[in-house]
Amino acid sequence: MVAITTHQPYLLSIDVSSATFIGTRIGNKNRGQRDADTGFLGIAQERASEQRHDRIASAAALTYGYAMHAAEDIRCQICDSRDCPPLIEHETERGQWHYRRCAGCGLVFLSPMLDDGELAALYANPDSGGTRAYFRKEASKLRRARGRVRHLAGAMAGGAKGKLFLDIGCSGGFMTQAAMQAGFTAWGIDPDGDAVAHAEQYYPGASYRVGGLTEFADAYVSENQERFDAVYCSEVLEHVADANAFVAAIAKLMATGGVLYLTTPDIGHWRRPRKLADWDVFTPPHHCLFFSLGNLRQLLARHGLEIYHRQWAFKPGLKVLARKVGESI
Ligand SMILES: [Zn+2]
Repeated sequence: MVAITTHQPYLLSIDVSSATFIGTRIGNKNRGQRDADTGFLGIAQERASEQRHDRIASAAALTYGYAMHAAEDIRCQICDSRDCPPLIEHETERGQWHYRRCAGCGLVFLSPMLDDGELAALYANPDSGGTRAYFRKEASKLRRARGRVRHLAGAMAGGAKGKLFLDIGCSGGFMTQAAMQAGFTAWGIDPDGDAVAHAEQYYPGASYRVGGLTEFADAYVSENQERFDAVYCSEVLEHVADANAFVAAIAKLMATGGVLYLTTPDIGHWRRPRKLADWDVFTPPHHCLFFSLGNLRQLLARHGLEIYHRQWAFKPGLKVLARKVGESI
């Protein structure tokens, strides 16, 4: 047991990884060089400090009860571990947000998690999307989309021609457009009706749906025999509250042998700022889940999806290709 010597609420400095490095911290502009210098040693030090932090947080939670979460059944979505001590508390104009880190698999998750009503309210709020700003970079989005579609088409035996493609979180339709140009029959789904209206207007020819993935998956499989050969899901997984329901829906839509191209922030990346709050994708409460390669692999495997390729990423992101090899368990 670690002795708690302060009567201050311990969450005040819960991101101990940053506190540990406070003495050696240097400016952001030198961070890349510093990381390049320290390499794996830096990551090892950070992990050691996080483990230390976990022990301190566990002890503190016992002492103070972490009162507001005491009644909750805290359990990791990925590995079912109940050993998920508090990691960081962060305040935004929307409120106070708490994240935990699973001691078993390293998943970092919002706790308490947003419920369906809170999620709906969050994305119904016009200031939360940034949709218009996103459309302004249309040309570069399309260029990037074509590159990613080439990557996916390359994974298809016989190429894209006549294959079924789905973009989950299709926004303004850039990926569906690129997929159609490559020869795919394209579908896109997004909860943002404005974005889908843009896609339908500027990139017609694909089938678009407004709404959530799990409802779409249920409706689609009951009405259609064909399953998707290629599924693209970029920077969406970190927004969902229930990763298993989400990935189960993806797997259900996919043909056996089909390929999933998935991207999400990588909390285990060597260039991720040591202090979580300094990371540009640490945006509570929109991002509810933070993965690393190990627990993402674990999550997908649970639903019959096997990661067989990881694309190198300079920014702290995971970009993986996974193949459907079995069914959800
Ligand atoms: Zn876990």
